[in-house]
Order: sequence, then structure tokens, then C-alpha cells
Amino acid sequence: MIDLSRRNLLANSALLLAGSGLARPGLSLGAAGAASATAPAVAPGVTGAGAQPIVLCWNENPYGPSPAARAVLSHTIPFSCRYPNEENGQLIDALAAHERIPADHIVLGTGSGELLRALGLLNGRNGGEIIAAQPTYSELTDYARQSGATLKFVPVDKALKHDLTEMRAAVSAHTRAVYICNPNNPTGTALQAEAIEAFVNSLPEGVTTIVDEAYMDFADLQGVQTVSGLVTQGKRVVVLRTFSKIHGMAGIRIGYGIARPDIINDIGAVAMTSPNIFAVRAARASLGDHAFLIDTRRRIIGSRQRITRELTGLGLAYAEPQGNFVFFNTGKPLERFTELMHARSILVGRPFPPYDTWCRITIGTEPEVTAFLQALHAIPA
Ligand code: PLP
Repeated sequence: MIDLSRRNLLANSALLLAGSGLARPGLSLGAAGAASATAPAVAPGVTGAGAQPIVLCWNENPYGPSPAARAVLSHTIPFSCRYPNEENGQLIDALAAHERIPADHIVLGTGSGELLRALGLLNGRNGGEIIAAQPTYSELTDYARQSGATLKFVPVDKALKHDLTEMRAAVSAHTRAVYICNPNNPTGTALQAEAIEAFVNSLPEGVTTIVDEAYMDFADLQGVQTVSGLVTQGKRVVVLRTFSKIHGMAGIRIGYGIARPDIINDIGAVAMTSPNIFAVRAARASLGDHAFLIDTRRRIIGSRQRITRELTGLGLAYAEPQGNFVFFNTGKPLERFTELMHARSILVGRPFPPYDTWCRITIGTEPEVTAFLQALHAIPA
């Protein structure tokens, strides 16, 4: 059985590519694009040109960083000797204006992953009970487990969406937090804001709802939108956003949380570190690069529609995708499918039990999507 953990996937892929003569010295699988104004338009190593692996396993956005962020990154090198103290505040102000929320309702993280961990610790320590869907993004629950949490996983429904009725039924007197990933990773399905609002309003006082909106910018279904408005209503809700997805800055590590000031202070108290000056400046620049954000969204949604059309044509089931990835039933054990794709230099997602024949495929550039679809047609049934 192949170990598809991130590290082993890299090691296996490197061996595979070396064996097939496709490896290049110094090749960094999944590396983000070079951070300079003269950088190529898409990330190196993922262009689908045939000589390099196509990395479609980590839900990265190969179009980023935006031109504005690239320019700022290259100009920031001389300022690397400075702490970004004041600039943190400037980014928070920019985010506050962007989100139309007071600045004291925002906390920065070195990726939203850091905030997920902080929330896992805050809610999970001393045996705190946390409820999450199965399957969902596991950074919060994994960290909470290490902190001594009691975890309750509630299977997604038939449409592979969060089952809010069952999640509500799972809430007990010990529940401290419920994690809702919307759109959900890995299934890609999304809940309407109204449904989350009704869920939050049904919870006992003191239970925090953590809504991870890492992929919200790619959603296009009516009613699927941020629930940050619940925060300004004073609810115990934390909304998490990241610059790793639509902004295409996964390698730069910056994200933010939106919550009531008391919750923001609690998160700040357990945060491990603070963002670096490149991240803070690039995030601010990217926020203002509307042309890039609109174009990226258009391309990803266009490719997503193309993939689902092809899957329908091939008779392969998929969950309704609202992120920059598609979760579909390959019709064969995932290990076999992964091997067939690796043999064509395409790296695809790891298993998400109990969906042992399903694969999560990240939406890459248009040529990468073409290569993936060609491979999908070519592999044996
Ligand atoms: N939340 C979800 C749902 C994700 O899929 C990811 C990363 O893939 C993250 C958060 C972490 O993102 P970040 O790069 O901001 O730490």
C-alpha cells in the first residue's frame, strides 16, 4: 500500500519521475511561483508542458501571486531587516475595510492553518468536545486531538454536504465548538449562509461555530456566501479566510480570522508567531488587485465546469464543486487510480476514507486541466 502522506507523496513522485527520466535537478514539486515582478505567469513545475509533473493534489492556485503582490514582494527584500509591526496594523485596517467589519474583530495568522490550530487548542484542551464533518479538512481536529480534545465526527450526507441536522444532534453539554468547512475540503460541496445561520442560532450559549471559508471566493451557487455578518451580530462565530487560495500565495503563509474581540484576544493569546513582512505586504497588495482576483475566479470556475462536463460524459459521479478542486468517483481503488495518474506525471489527491474510490483533483491551469482530462480518458476503465 502506498503511503500518500504529503511527504511520502513527494518522495514517491520524485522516485517515479527519476525512474521515468522526467525528473529535473532542483525541481521542487508544488513550489509556488517565483516571487518577482518578472516571474512567469504560472508556477514553475506545474505548467503541464509534459516535462514536469503536474501537481494537482494540494488545492493550490497556480495563477498566483497576483502581479501587484509579485511587485511588492521583490521590492520588500531590503526591508527584511525590519519587523512588520506597524504594517500588521495597516493590513488589519485594509481587511477591516474589505470585510466591512471593525479592526478589533480581525486577527492575522501565518496561514489560516495557524488559526485553526489555535482554535483546536482553545476548544479542545482539557477534554473539550469538538464536532466536525467526516470527511473534512483535518488541521483543526488533528491539533485538537493532540491537545486532549474529544472529537465527534458526523458523516456528510448523500450529496457529500455537511449534515447540519445530525451535527446539531451530536451537540452535548460538553461541546465547545463545531467546525464547518464551507465549501468543504475534500468534497467541495457548500452550504447556504442561511442554513449556517439557522444552525448557529440553534446552538446552546457558549458553543463556538468555526466556519472555514478558505475556498469561498470560488463559490458560485446562489446563497453560498460568507457568514461574517453573524460576527457583527455578536454570535460566537469565527470565520477563517486565507491568502493561500484565490490569492495564490500558499507558500507565503498568511490568513486571517474574523470574530468578536473577546474571541480574537483568546486566539491571539495562544498564537505561536506573527506573519512576516513579505506576507503582510503581499497580502495588502493582493487585496487591491481586483483584476487578478476576478480573472482567477473566472478561469477556475471555467475549468471546473469543463471538468464536470467531462466527468458527466464519462459517467463518473462527482460532488457539486464550489472550490478550486473536484471530488469525483474514479470507479476504481484510489491507489490504482493514483498510480495510473502518476505514470502520466500527474499528482492527484490522497485518500479520504470512507470514499476509497474517490479522488480530489485540484484545478490547475488550463493546459494542466487538458492534460488531466486526456489522462482520464486514456487510463483503462
Ligand atoms: N482550510 C482549508 C479548508 C484548507 O483546505 C486549507 C489548506 O489547504 C487551509 C485551511 C489552510 O490554509 P493556509 O494555507 O491558510 O494555512
